[in-house]
Amino acid sequence: MRILFLTAVILLTSAYHHQEPVRHADDQTILRYFHSISSEEIAGWLTELCSQKYNGRLAGTPEYLAAAEWTASKLKEWGIQPAGDNGSYFQWFNHPYTVVNDIGVLKLQIPQKDGSVIIKNYSAPDNYYPGMNSGNGEVTAEVIWVGYGVTAPELNYDDYKGVDVRGKVVLMNRDVPYKDVRNPEYARWVKYCYHQYKVENAVAHGAAGMLYIDGNSANPNISYFRNMIVTGIGPDPLTDIMAGSGKDNKVLLGQVDKTFKPASFATGRVITMKANTTRHPEGKTCNVVGMIEGTDSLLKSEVIIIGGHLDAVGNAGGLLVAGGLDNASGVVDIMAAAKALSLSGIKMKRTVLFLFIGGEEVGLLGSTFYTQHPVFPKEKTITYINLDMVGNGTGLAVSASASCSGLTGYFKAANDSYIHRPLRVSTSGGSFYGRPRSDGLVFLADGYRTMSLSTTDGVKPVYYHLPGDDETAVTPEIMEDVAKLIYLSFLEMANADTLSY
Ligand SMILES: [Zn+2]
Repeated sequence: MRILFLTAVILLTSAYHHQEPVRHADDQTILRYFHSISSEEIAGWLTELCSQKYNGRLAGTPEYLAAAEWTASKLKEWGIQPAGDNGSYFQWFNHPYTVVNDIGVLKLQIPQKDGSVIIKNYSAPDNYYPGMNSGNGEVTAEVIWVGYGVTAPELNYDDYKGVDVRGKVVLMNRDVPYKDVRNPEYARWVKYCYHQYKVENAVAHGAAGMLYIDGNSANPNISYFRNMIVTGIGPDPLTDIMAGSGKDNKVLLGQVDKTFKPASFATGRVITMKANTTRHPEGKTCNVVGMIEGTDSLLKSEVIIIGGHLDAVGNAGGLLVAGGLDNASGVVDIMAAAKALSLSGIKMKRTVLFLFIGGEEVGLLGSTFYTQHPVFPKEKTITYINLDMVGNGTGLAVSASASCSGLTGYFKAANDSYIHRPLRVSTSGGSFYGRPRSDGLVFLADGYRTMSLSTTDGVKPVYYHLPGDDETAVTPEIMEDVAKLIYLSFLEMANADTLSY
């Protein structure tokens, strides 16, 4: 075993060390802590984070804070230093939030040929999903189809032109008619593709309700208005609403996308939406931050950050989304590597920062807050590595921004020598003008070198923002290997005399 290991170390170090191999610990220690990373322990932590008491870890809620405290307590137990506010593990920020008390009501009036009206009741989560930042109340009104719900005078585009939505319910789609996110032209449309914008624009036009065609899954990433009832809907209510008009949502969108001419119209259908929510404007939430300080007097000012969001989408009136894959998986992968790195006592010249992010699901708030209040200066940050939904599959993938694509070599070498999973390495090149949809993109947009670690070849169904995303939605074996990959590559990156970006 030892001989094998030494051979591997030589291969590993010669692969990317231009100077002498950097090994402060004896190889047996490195190997012992490598093997101490266990899928069983990782699965146990994931089950803890998915448990009822954390109620889906919606940022702002006391249950999220309990999960944050639990995470910090593990860091403390392993001797990882606090790197948050005032010597604590927590980096606090304001975070108003909404609790959905029950699943509400969605029912449609369907007129019959004989003049009678049938009331069709829909059920959640099969047909609709209660708006997770909906106002509280009830509205019964006609549904107005408004395409993408966009008013962009400078682009000569207005979905609200020619329709009166005051006191009515607007029905709209995600995104914008312009689709090419790699084209600079998209930059002019990007502000109109945010969910927040869409509800704000609906309110500005006087709508009382909003039906959002967003795949009927939990979406807290939307603005709150006290007098605006919001519900996400799936295919069934959509079909029933459109049926009376003889029009089809997809066909209409196709026309709009081609011509950039809105096709909004009053559907003639009357719907009742009821939401039971409680707003908490006083909400606060936090990132959890811990670090292992570097041992080299000069290099310790340089930091490698690894992070993933700790929050999830919560519990909408009994629809608990525990956030197993999204993103307890990323959190516990990082925890396992952090534990092994810290308990091994192996010296690392550079500092390693562990960042468990709050408020990702409501609009990337925690990562944005970190970039505005960094613990280490951006210039001293080697890279930010993001993990989001990393625990389903049999393969691994590492992606890096062009500014640090060389760092993928450390992961590749570790995998080739010890882990032997299929590993896809890529550089995320080219420009992207769409709305950022991950914490990694927030760091990238702020000028950080960034990477992401993910799992590939999923073997379990993915229940994105749905109640099925619980502790059974992951494959612990791949998570063990993700943690091992982090552990080994971090030892190398933190100790390299010269890093090859
Ligand atoms: Zn996520």
